[in-house]
Amino acid sequence: MATLAESRTQFTHLPHPAPVADSVRAEILANPGFGACFTDHMVTIEWSDNAGWHSPTVGPYGPITLDPAASVLHYAQEIFEGLKAYRHPDGTLALFRPDANAARFNASARRLAMPELPSELFITATEELVRADANWFPTVEGGSLYLRPFMIATEAFLGVRPAKAYKFIVIASPAGNYFKSGAPAVSIWVSDYTRAAPGGTGAAKCGGNYAASLVPTAEAFAKGHDQVLFLDAAEHNWIEELGGMNLFFAFADGTLTTPPLTGTILPGITRDSLIQLAREEGLDVREERYSLDQWRDDAGSGQLIEAFACGTAAVVTPIGKVAGRDGEFTIGSGGPGQLTGKLKARLTAIQRGGEPDSHGWVHHIT
Ligand SMILES: *Cc1c(COP(=O)(O)O)cnc(C)c1O
Repeated sequence: MATLAESRTQFTHLPHPAPVADSVRAEILANPGFGACFTDHMVTIEWSDNAGWHSPTVGPYGPITLDPAASVLHYAQEIFEGLKAYRHPDGTLALFRPDANAARFNASARRLAMPELPSELFITATEELVRADANWFPTVEGGSLYLRPFMIATEAFLGVRPAKAYKFIVIASPAGNYFKSGAPAVSIWVSDYTRAAPGGTGAAKCGGNYAASLVPTAEAFAKGHDQVLFLDAAEHNWIEELGGMNLFFAFADGTLTTPPLTGTILPGITRDSLIQLAREEGLDVREERYSLDQWRDDAGSGQLIEAFACGTAAVVTPIGKVAGRDGEFTIGSGGPGQLTGKLKARLTAIQRGGEPDSHGWVHHIT
């Protein structure tokens, strides 16, 4: 007899009655782009205040029905995660640090007054989807299956309080190499808008943070830049994040600095992984505040040699030029730096099974 906990987490499998045709899928997998195509299945798990998490299902990918009064549509109780599954050279499938995503998902849930999902259930859900859609791995070099777990408040109630019903969903999207021929150095715009304030939701991965970043991002694009740089809300002086990515600064003396996790910065798993890899490379890694003025001075004097942003989607993105209200400056030669390339190569080699994993980061799916 299965225990109550086990029967609750026993996934029901409802295979898609009409999956995407082989020829169409092959075309997508040869040139997947990012975030526009989705696999045949999705995972859903329901939560209610009297039953807890229940009814885990791997079913056909498709629209979900929501009551128009569902709290997520009014008060934005929504959180998400982003992680990738890779097909290794030996044919096995693996996730990268899904335990870290599960832990962060729960940290976000606590901040948004949502129920936590047991880590094993989060990881099992992603594994179930990868197994169901194992024929959806891109065939292009640098490809992966991007997984998007998220949770929404579904209770039909307009009063302002945490909802009493939620849906956890995982969808998957085949992803190409974010930048086709290696990462070019990007040009960034220093925004006058802020992304996160002390005491706010900056450290939670919630859709609301992204909604607030769209106008500043559009402004950066309109000014001819690739990304938007956010400074801190209180002093508008300290560097925080680049769009949806964390930042690193490399100096001629062998130090590597990244802004500390003070509550307004999203604790990136790529960030954490790179800190560890950089220390192994002998760099002196510091989690310290760094100001825009100091950055400009250090870039001018040549003390700062490289800067890059990092996150799951694009992995590592070199920064070439910084522009803002007070003019612009160039980092190094304005192109991708050596250290940036080296750290990116090491991380992607571990993720893709090209280098042994001595950190316990690679989670094989059996
Ligand atoms: C997800 C995210 C990151 C990067 O986190 P990873 O775990 O490295 O993908 C950085 N900043 C923001 C705002 C994010 O939402």
